[in-house]
Amino acid sequence: MDFEVGSTRIYSCPMCSVDTPHNVKAHKGEIYGIACTNCRSGALVKELDLRIYQLKWEEELREILDSLVEQSIGCDDE
Ligand SMILES: [Zn+2]
Repeated sequence: MDFEVGSTRIYSCPMCSVDTPHNVKAHKGEIYGIACTNCRSGALVKELDLRIYQLKWEEELREILDSLVEQSIGCDDE
């Protein structure tokens, strides 16, 4: 499955060092041209890197959600 041009992917921006959505601008073979929505700088990344980052991000997001659920369950114990 390719990342579509025009879609947005979370990636760690090499310029501003923030995890931000990046617009997928171009796609050639395994290389993607992406643009940071925060500082607007462009970067070239391998498809594999994007994919790994996406998985890592989803994993972290799940952990954050899990801890939020645990916290809200804890609050209900009053
Ligand atoms: Zn940036």
